[in-house]
Amino acid sequence: MPQSGASPAYDVVLIGGGIMSATLGTMLNELEPDWSIALYENLHQAGQESSDPWNNAGTGHAALCELNYSPAGKNGVVDITKATNINEQYHMSLQYWAHLVDNGTLKAPNSFINPLPHMSFVWGDDHATYLQARYEAMVPNPLFAEMEHTEDPDKIAEWAPLLAEGRTPGQRVAASRFERGTDVDFGSLTRQLISKLDENGVQLHYGHKVTDLSRDTDGRWEVSVHDRLSGQKFTAKARFVFIGAGGGALELLQASGIPEAKGYGGFPISGQFLRATNQRVIDRHHAKVYGQAAVGAPPMSVPHLDTRFVDGRRSLMFGPYAGFSTNFLKTGSYLDLPKSIRPHNLGTMLNVAKDNFDLVGYLVSEVLKTHSKKVDTLRDFYPNAVEDEWELITAGQRVQVMKKDPKKGGVLQFGTELVSGADGSIAALLGASPGASTAAPIMIDLLRRSFPERFTSWETKLTEMIPSQGRRLNEDPKLLAEITRETTKTLQLA
Ligand SMILES: Cc1cc2nc3c(=O)[nH]c(=O)nc-3n(C[C@H](O)[C@H](O)[C@H](O)COP(=O)(O)OP(=O)(O)OC[C@H]3O[C@@H](n4cnc5c(N)ncnc54)[C@H](O)[C@@H]3O)c2cc1C
Repeated sequence: MPQSGASPAYDVVLIGGGIMSATLGTMLNELEPDWSIALYENLHQAGQESSDPWNNAGTGHAALCELNYSPAGKNGVVDITKATNINEQYHMSLQYWAHLVDNGTLKAPNSFINPLPHMSFVWGDDHATYLQARYEAMVPNPLFAEMEHTEDPDKIAEWAPLLAEGRTPGQRVAASRFERGTDVDFGSLTRQLISKLDENGVQLHYGHKVTDLSRDTDGRWEVSVHDRLSGQKFTAKARFVFIGAGGGALELLQASGIPEAKGYGGFPISGQFLRATNQRVIDRHHAKVYGQAAVGAPPMSVPHLDTRFVDGRRSLMFGPYAGFSTNFLKTGSYLDLPKSIRPHNLGTMLNVAKDNFDLVGYLVSEVLKTHSKKVDTLRDFYPNAVEDEWELITAGQRVQVMKKDPKKGGVLQFGTELVSGADGSIAALLGASPGASTAAPIMIDLLRRSFPERFTSWETKLTEMIPSQGRRLNEDPKLLAEITRETTKTLQLA
């Protein structure tokens, strides 16, 4: 139980009610049921920022269709190292969710995850040659052994008819497909996890904004909180703090003053999707189809045509169209970016600006695209798209990490970055990709770094939660087959 008094005191304070805090809270609650945990969320519900289903694409990122995880070198050889790592990480998330279905934390699997084939689709000689090379590099690996590949337009039409109809005859097209992909409603997942934390006695405080962090003389963290409903301000104490504030994480990490925060900056990229309004079109597509990124486009702006399942309803989205806004959160302020500039990250940011003119040019061109031009981009995938059958929705903000680099001075990084204090008492998650799909392995990494003295005693329990934890599935086809069978059954993915 928390200690009461002027400053409530907890073992753990989680800042933010998105998928990351929800996952960490759920793990800690199972590993240490006696620890007192409080969660402070600025908004009036959990999972309303990036984890909301309409603020992200809902792809269970397993590197099955996303071409940026398997780049070709100058010699044309495709490197699948990153794809292999991400696929193994996604297997860890699947195992964890299956564990949570088994123990009753999560409800019917289709309330948050649905089976959906993942496809990569390209046109033109260079891209088709690359996709063939990618398939040949991936299919011998046990993780990707079920991948199929074709350049036959009739086969592509069978897999995804919208891609084929109305396409210029004779155009070289190619597709790779992995039938066992997934679509995930991370908002539903977040809210189910947090609702269980509530039942288990975790103190949930909505409409509570964390405004500052400082270290008390006794080593605990003092978390300054503003209750936006009552206007009251108070301080909560914690032995461990997780900054799971999504786009708000950088500001709080900087406020903590830990030396590890130095040099980090954030580069916000906004996103929009087109959503189909014609049910007949929606019903004729059943896949997530990822293409090649345009020149200068950041990897997460790869266009994709996706079936989605949200609140039991099927829909169809295309995008994202990237844009630039200085907000770090969808509900944030245009001052977020200027306020994040510090003497220690200014050099990093200037170096990133200098090296990323292509990206800036791309973002400007995306911002200037009219609805009609956006539908033209969609027609590269779905040639017969009708303009007024697509509405525009605004997705979440991604804050990409800018960090110091010994050679270049500063680099823009598109992954997620866990930043921990040296003594393990504080950790923050920055960045957005592959994001929510890898919440479980990211949190295992956090537990290992922040609680090294406890981690060994947790390992048996963690292996129950995630059987492949600490092992390489890529090198263990028997274990891979076993866990795939179990997760497919429990999460009803067949
Ligand atoms: C356009 C787009 C597409 C994406 N597509 C995918 C995808 O297909 N697959 C995938 O796996 N991932 C995807 N992602 C990434 C994924 O959405 C994120 O990685 C994930 O949702 C981040 O979760 P989080 O808990 O860190 O942040 P969030 O879900 O943003 O939660 C952070 C919470 O912290 C709260 N908060 C912020 N500041 C404070 C404060 N000071 N005090 C209290 N509370 C605060 C916010 O209100 C929010 O609720 C996508 C993201 C975007 C934007």
